[in-house]
Amino acid sequence: METNNIKPFKNISAWQGIATSKCPRCRRGPIFATGPYSFGGQKMYERCSHCGLTYEREPGYWYVAMFVSYALNVAEMVTCAVAISVLTGSKSPWLYTGVILGAVFLLSPFNYRYSRVLLLYWLTPGLNYEAWRAEAPPVDSKLPNNLKD
Ligand SMILES: [Zn+2]
Repeated sequence: METNNIKPFKNISAWQGIATSKCPRCRRGPIFATGPYSFGGQKMYERCSHCGLTYEREPGYWYVAMFVSYALNVAEMVTCAVAISVLTGSKSPWLYTGVILGAVFLLSPFNYRYSRVLLLYWLTPGLNYEAWRAEAPPVDSKLPNNLKD
C-alpha cells in the first residue's frame, strides 16, 4: 500500500477564502502575515506563497481599496445609526456621533483588511479562482517574477 504525507486539499468556498483572507486565485496562500488586530499593524505578503500571485496587481492598485473601505464605513455607520434609533429611540446627536465614531475607530483594522480582500475577490477583472492551482504543488519562490503570473 502506497502512502504519502501530502494531505489532500479540500476546496474552500469564496466566502471561506474571504473570511480567512486567502489568495483569491488558489485560496491556499494567506494574504496577510499578521492578524487584523495585531500590534504593530497589518503586514501583507507581496505574493501568494502557494501560487505566486502578486497581490498588488498594478501600481496604485490599493488606492481602489479606499473606495471599498469607504463603502464598508458607510454601511457600518448607517447600521449603527439605525441600531441606536431602534434600541434607544434617542434624538441626541452626541450619542449618535460618539457611538458611530467609536465603531468606525474600532472597525478600521477590519475595514483595512477586508477592503483589500474584497477588492481582490470581487472587483478585479480577470482574477478568478483556479482549482488546479490549489491542487498543484507550491510554485518555486525563486522563479523570476515574469514566470509566476
Ligand atoms: Zn495563491
